[in-house]
Amino acid sequence: MKISKFGGSSLANADQIRKVCDIISDDHSRKVVVVSAPGKRNPGDTKVTDLLIRLAEVILADKDHQKELYSVVDRFNGIAADLELDQYLMEDIESDLKRRVSSDHTDPARFMDLIKAAGEDNCARLVTAYLFSIGKYARYLDPKEAGMFLTDEFGNAQVLPETYDNLRKISDHPGIIVFPGFFGYTLNGDVVTFPRGGSDITGSILAAALEVDVYENWTDVDAVYAINPELVRNPYPMKEITYDEMRELAYAGFSVLHEEALSPAYRKGIPVHIRNTNNPRSPGTVIVKKRKNYEGMVTGIAGAKGFIDVNLSRYLMNREVGFVVKVLKIFADEGVPFEHMPSGIDSISIVLKASQFPEDKETRIIERLKSELDIETINISRNLALVMIVGEAMAKTVGVTARAAGCLSRAGINLEIIDQGASEISVIFGIREEYCDYALKELYKEFFIN
Ligand code: ASP
Repeated sequence: MKISKFGGSSLANADQIRKVCDIISDDHSRKVVVVSAPGKRNPGDTKVTDLLIRLAEVILADKDHQKELYSVVDRFNGIAADLELDQYLMEDIESDLKRRVSSDHTDPARFMDLIKAAGEDNCARLVTAYLFSIGKYARYLDPKEAGMFLTDEFGNAQVLPETYDNLRKISDHPGIIVFPGFFGYTLNGDVVTFPRGGSDITGSILAAALEVDVYENWTDVDAVYAINPELVRNPYPMKEITYDEMRELAYAGFSVLHEEALSPAYRKGIPVHIRNTNNPRSPGTVIVKKRKNYEGMVTGIAGAKGFIDVNLSRYLMNREVGFVVKVLKIFADEGVPFEHMPSGIDSISIVLKASQFPEDKETRIIERLKSELDIETINISRNLALVMIVGEAMAKTVGVTARAAGCLSRAGINLEIIDQGASEISVIFGIREEYCDYALKELYKEFFIN
């Protein structure tokens, strides 16, 4: 059995929904289908979820909301009409939206989630109706009935442990189950959503609960590529990648799956297969626990901008037991998380995301580091990019870091930080932001073309 999750671009219009239903009909093991809300039809278009957020905002601001409401109703009606579905479905969707819009909105976060969830919920009804119309026995499954219970953190929910037992029972349902992604219910019965892009999380939870053979994640790319395809023409498509490699690359900017989505499937060791709705013949990329083949030393290359390095030094720092704990406590007291911490004998670098280090916190932290810990020198280096090479095979290969550093030095790029991840599956180079894309392209040439 497979879980097949389809993203917004796969459901953006009637043609895309036809492709989705062909894919479902093609393989009997595709028994549970998870859908997102209809996404963008073209680059200038707006996703249904964004239309819904706008609708909720207008209502919460006590403004007239008819235009925003009908932008959503019309979007669904247009798809239903193109799929030649019964009029009653369009009426159902419209009355569902009106019911949500007129519900209590004294708690804005709760109201926002109720409205946001309408995209996935109605898309699931629409796909079910279309499958029925082409002679497939399909059933829409309400997440409440299925027992998809989540924490009451609106817009940022997490799965509750009992959900897995509840969902296990859904495999008894006959026919194809169409399950709306992105939301569930609190134990009080309120609709609550995952963070944006959270239909991936729904799919992963279902995959883990049902212990399926594979979690198919259908999107609009042929594969996960070894480098951001905006930087290189025809980049190398990865056939296989491990969860750990994917996690490292996601940290530095790979955004194929929602970050939290891998965890339920990972814990059960279920392979996640990224596939293209627009090109189902393409082999896609499989994310696995352990790889069988390594095609090269490096699996992928990624980079992210917007980091700051706070470098602290004090003579005989290494003699003081617990010194690092005291440093980190000061950052923690101010609620500033650190990303990396390369250290020397008498110096230590705390690498932070610039967005987490506003001026007021910076002033307080620096003052405390000086007064409480007597730190002699504090150098702050801004506009830093972290460039990363990732690959499980690196741990057993001699000379990968040397090759990468050599490549960057030939390119004339100064390395401010070198940090080999403790798991030995990644090496991070801290460089000036303006060289980030150039460095990525040079590293790609070194490891994938040369
Ligand atoms: N529709 C939601 C979003 O746009 C969730 C998803 O597509 O996964 O964020």
